[in-house]
Amino acid sequence: RVKRNGRGGTAVFQLEIEAEALRRALVEQHLQEAVSRGELTLVYQPLVALGEGRITACEALLRWNNAELGFVSPAEFIPIAEQSGLIYGLDEWVILEACKQAARWRIQGYQIEMAVNVSALHVQSPELTLFVQRVLEETGTRPEQLRLELTEGALMLDMEEALRQLHALRGLGVQLALDDFGTGYSSLSWLQSLPIEQLKLDRSLLEHATEEPRRELVLASFVTLAQTLGMTVVAEGIETPAQLALLRHMGCDFGQGYFLSRPITPEAVLNLLSRPGDHMDAQVFGQIRSP
Ligand code: C2E
Ligand code: MG
Ligand code: MG
Ligand code: MG
Repeated sequence: RVKRNGRGGTAVFQLEIEAEALRRALVEQHLQEAVSRGELTLVYQPLVALGEGRITACEALLRWNNAELGFVSPAEFIPIAEQSGLIYGLDEWVILEACKQAARWRIQGYQIEMAVNVSALHVQSPELTLFVQRVLEETGTRPEQLRLELTEGALMLDMEEALRQLHALRGLGVQLALDDFGTGYSSLSWLQSLPIEQLKLDRSLLEHATEEPRRELVLASFVTLAQTLGMTVVAEGIETPAQLALLRHMGCDFGQGYFLSRPITPEAVLNLLSRPGDHMDAQVFGQIRSP
C-alpha cells in the first residue's frame, strides 16, 4: 500500500477513490441483470437448537456469480443494492425462492423454519407485507414457518413506519428476528417495545468470549436479557467446540456457525436433516436428532 503523504499521496488517494467508484458502478450495472440472467443462488445455513443438537431452521443467504466479476460477496453488493434501490427486487427474489425451498423440504418430510434477511429500507414500505402475504399463499408456506431477520438500522430510519410494518407482518403470523444484535445502539426500553421474538447475537460478541471473562459476562448478560424479554436467542458465528460448550452452558437457545455448518446447498441440508450425526459434532451433542 502506497503512503499517502505529500502531493503524490493525494494523487494516489484520488485514484483509489476513482477505482472504488468505478467498481461500484460496475457492480450496480451487472446487478441490475442478475435476477433475469439467473446469476443468483441461495445457500442455507442451519440453526441448531443447542439443547439437543437438532436443526430447527435454516437461514437463506444470497450468492451472486457474475460472468465478468466472478463471485461477489453480499457484504459488497447488498449496500450497493440498497443505495441503488435494487434491493427491493433482490429481497423479493430471495423471499420467493426461500419459501419455494421450504415447500420442497416440507414435501420431502422436513418442516423447518426458514429465515430470510430483509434490508433496512424494505421494512419501511407496506409493499413488503403485501408481497410476503402473496408468497405465503402461492407457495403454501405456513406463516409461522417464515422468519424475517431485520437489523436495528432498519428500524431506526423511521421508527413509526417500521413499527407499523412489523405489526402488519406479525399480523400475518410471520416471525421476526433482530439480526446482528450487539453492534448497534439498542436500548433496553426500545427493545422491549418491538414485536420481535428472537434476538440474534452478532458474532463479535462471541469472539474471544472463551478467552476473556469480561466478554463472557457481556455475552451471558445478553442471553439473559433476551430470555427475560421473552425472546429466544441465537448465537451467530460458532467456530469452535469451546464456544459451543460455553453457549450451551449459558442456556443459549440456538446457534449458528461454521463449527455447526457452513452455508450449504439445499441438497446438503436435506442430507443433514436425514443423517444429521454425520455433520454435527456428535461428541458434543450426544445423539443428534432431526425434526
Ligand atoms: P447475516 O445475516 O448476519 O449473516 C451471517 C453471515 O455470517 C453470513 O455471511 C454467513 O456466511 C456468515 N457466517 C456464518 N457463520 C459464520 C462463522 O462461524 N464465522 C464467520 N466468520 N462467519 C460466519 P454472508 O453470507 O457473507 O452474508 C453477509 C451479510 O449480507 C448477512 O449478514 C446479511 O446482512 C447480508 N445478506 C446475505 N444474504 C442476504 C439477502 O438475501 N438479503 C439481504 N437483504 N441481505 C443479505
Ligand atoms: Mg441474518
Ligand atoms: Mg446476523
Ligand atoms: Mg451478522
